[in-house]
Amino acid sequence: MARVLILGGTAEARALAAALVGLPGVHPVTSLAGRVAAPVLPPGEVRIGGFGGVDGLAGWLAGQQIAAVVDATHPFAATISRSAAAAAARIPIPILALRRPGWSQRPGDEWHRVASLAAAADALTGLGQRVLLTTGRTELAPFAGLDGHWFLIRSIDQPQPPLPARHRVLLARGPFSVPAETELMTKHRIQVLVTKDSGGPLTEAKLTAARALGVPVVLVDRPALPEIETVQTVAAACQWVAAQPG
Ligand code: NAP
Repeated sequence: MARVLILGGTAEARALAAALVGLPGVHPVTSLAGRVAAPVLPPGEVRIGGFGGVDGLAGWLAGQQIAAVVDATHPFAATISRSAAAAAARIPIPILALRRPGWSQRPGDEWHRVASLAAAADALTGLGQRVLLTTGRTELAPFAGLDGHWFLIRSIDQPQPPLPARHRVLLARGPFSVPAETELMTKHRIQVLVTKDSGGPLTEAKLTAARALGVPVVLVDRPALPEIETVQTVAAACQWVAAQPG
């Protein structure tokens, strides 16, 4: 059996694990960072926790006799993606990135693209005071000093301080529907939405709702990721795994 490491934490990684479990001659092992208290587990073998950088991951890959790696982490998880590219090159074993495309602007959208969460915080001035913040539970420090704004912070687990003085936390896990997002933004009189350009259908409804409500969006661009062979669909990743030498 060829042991294939899936670096996970996304719906695509779970779907890939489900597909590879049924592929003859392939034994998928999914790795999760352990950030979410009660993660949705994929089928097949799962391990949880960091590897200890490039050296730790390279040692783990060799020790576990991993034949190939699919990096299906979130497009903002740049550190693990860089570690994976470097560790796979060192051994060497083949590596593929499975990455959903970013979202595309449509007519009626008012998007303000920024390079970082700090730039997103800066961009809020003048756009609106009541903010729906959906950028995850970590790295919220850039918003902490914005006393003139009120934030609805939505995350799966409790957000990490420092947090802005005026806020409310909403613990929720997608997928979210357009009617629910519209109701949420209306109920809280949201004037601006801040999100990462995560892409994918599961969390896209907020953008549709914002468009219909005329709510501007501050969209954080993806970080630079390693330039390795990349596919956008689970089916293409599955084909790549099947084509690897046994
Ligand atoms: P990151 O900044 O790239 O990674 C930080 C460290 O966490 C890595 O150096 C690695 O530790 C460990 N790590 C990350 N992903 C791992 C994995 N799949 N398996 C084992 N260790 C992992 O990543 P992050 O932004 O903290 O994201 C962590 C996880 O959450 C990822 O699996 C990602 O797919 C998921 N996620 C992230 C976001 C986001 O917006 N960043 C959103 C949704 C889901 P060592 O150096 O010790 O190996």
